[in-house]
Amino acid sequence: MEEENLPIHKSTKAIHAGNLKKPVFGEVSVPIFQTSTFSFPSADEGAARFSGDSDGFIYTRMGNPTTRALEECIASLENGYKGMATASGMAAITTVFLALLDQGTHMVGTASVYGPTRVVVENELSRFGIASTFVDTSNLDNIEKAIQKPDTRIIYIETPANPILSLTDIEAVAHIAHKNDILLVVDNTFASPFLQRPLEQGADIVIHSLTKFINGHSDVVGGIIIAKDEKLYRKIKPVLNLFGGTMDPHQAWLVLRGVRTLPLRIEKAQDNASRLATYLLNHPKVTWVKYTGLPDHPQHQIVKKQMDGCGTMISFGVRNGLEGGKIVMDNVRLFTLAVSLGGVESLIEHPASMTHASVPREERELAGIRDELIRVSVGCEDFEDLKNDLDQALFKIP
Ligand SMILES: *Cc1c(COP(=O)(O)O)cnc(C)c1O
Repeated sequence: MEEENLPIHKSTKAIHAGNLKKPVFGEVSVPIFQTSTFSFPSADEGAARFSGDSDGFIYTRMGNPTTRALEECIASLENGYKGMATASGMAAITTVFLALLDQGTHMVGTASVYGPTRVVVENELSRFGIASTFVDTSNLDNIEKAIQKPDTRIIYIETPANPILSLTDIEAVAHIAHKNDILLVVDNTFASPFLQRPLEQGADIVIHSLTKFINGHSDVVGGIIIAKDEKLYRKIKPVLNLFGGTMDPHQAWLVLRGVRTLPLRIEKAQDNASRLATYLLNHPKVTWVKYTGLPDHPQHQIVKKQMDGCGTMISFGVRNGLEGGKIVMDNVRLFTLAVSLGGVESLIEHPASMTHASVPREERELAGIRDELIRVSVGCEDFEDLKNDLDQALFKIP
């Protein structure tokens, strides 16, 4: 076997991809290049950088070595062409919409996408004449029916998706999209590239909120767009540079530090989650459990087809509905009451009394958010401690 052709595996990529080809002083960690602008060695080189003939740096809004290191690392993990790091996950999402949707066009999306994504499309992009249809994309017929030829430009899916971790078959949707000359965009935040790589399944663009698993320490907000090929990269990159939602080098350095341990964190948290799901299934105060790793998950086959693992998110129902949920929230000691996910610490939330308390019950139920639903993002603590904490809180429910 030719040595150069040996494949590099994902845990190695997480640690090495994006390291500088030419370290400045032999440094092992990528430095923070805290500079807004870059000098040109000559007028000709300056011209070459502006024309794109040289990939040297010009100005940090358009590119920076620390940010590029992060972009190369995530693009490598996703097996994409190039990454574009953004100030937040929402900046990544809005940049893709602004780059790919024109006035009079239409998009199809997963009904239960991250809330603000849907608000941006329905309340903001609609002001510019962009139409949308949000459907349950776990049912492929819904997607076929929602396509409006020739106006539909993108299908935008999130899988697994809130609140009950329903899955969409990426390969099947890519097939529908391409048959109709439509691009498939996947928000891969919930899975992370360690567990799911949509570009390998036929998606055209992948988006992440780096705030979640990839950074993993609940201390940075950030996002990234990964394009499958040069053509899409060239379409999106100028829009990002112009609208200005780019990442800053210090932020990039923190996320780069976080991603190095992504495989270790996911493996530990996933092990905790699968044991916790089984434990909850047998708990007298728990009425139902949704976890992609349980054999009774209705889409277990899709998990096997497109994911390398079952993830760290669990939704479950407790006795006594709204009241039962509140009791658990008020009695956990180790689980932190907070939205967000993917950090080393375990988080718990009760949408009906917290994030969605202002939404009328009927509307909540339509979105799948039942009164008794509790969502946990399982972290990397000791399993016994997590189990004992949930146990004592659940037993406070009468
Ligand atoms: C958090 C999140 C976002 C938004 O990311 P920010 O970094 O908060 O802007 C988008 N999609 C999903 C699935 C998320 O969980």
